[in-house]
Amino acid sequence: MTQSWNPTRPDIAEALASVRETIALAARESGRGPEEVALVAVAKTFGPSAVEAAYAAGQRVFGENRVQEAQSKYPDLKKRHPDLMLHLIGPLQTNKAGDALALFDVIETLDREKLARALAKERDRQGRCPQLYIQVNTGGEAQKAGCKAADAAALLQLSRDELNLPVIGLMCIPPLDEPPAVHFGLLKRLAQDLDLENLSMGMSGDYEAAVMLGATSVRVGSAIFGQRPKPV
Ligand SMILES: *Cc1c(COP(=O)(O)O)cnc(C)c1O
Repeated sequence: MTQSWNPTRPDIAEALASVRETIALAARESGRGPEEVALVAVAKTFGPSAVEAAYAAGQRVFGENRVQEAQSKYPDLKKRHPDLMLHLIGPLQTNKAGDALALFDVIETLDREKLARALAKERDRQGRCPQLYIQVNTGGEAQKAGCKAADAAALLQLSRDELNLPVIGLMCIPPLDEPPAVHFGLLKRLAQDLDLENLSMGMSGDYEAAVMLGATSVRVGSAIFGQRPKPV
């Protein structure tokens, strides 16, 4: 497969330092230490050299939204850097559950019963399982992945208690045209109700607000790697 990646910008280390600084300040602002908020560097559309540059600057956790792109990019990187951690942050089709389970360390987009069952089956087959987040469609958007907020408890019960899957938190992507803080607040309350510790929320445009509102993990792409071309 030939793949044309976006060009790597020269100042990834600088951009990373600035994002880390913003996270540290927001964490302190919310009464926490900087080490309590994980940074997932979202490298989608950027090639292995961009990941290498971020790794050289101390970044260890990376995010990708497509299984296939990750499969073409990370096996080599992971061989070179065994401590590199990979998060799946995009929608997962049931028929890719096995591929995803084999490659990723964390899957943030568990959002339906069928997928939970497919992951459990692959876990039994492969003898390994990434940590999981339940993705919640806090805005109730028809086209967006994620379970309804009202269905999260049932999905957690099935996944964790019946299927014994390691669900560690909740993840959301707020609607583009709404203030994200409302959705961050909603996700936090839901996590408290469900007694889940981890909250994956916040992207380049709103990660500072997300950390102030309790994010334990932020997913930042363009603020580190540069602008991606608009999807056609
Ligand atoms: C692309 C992506 C991000 C990062 O977006 P930026 O705005 O570039 O920081 C975060 N989360 C998800 C689910 C994404 O697909």
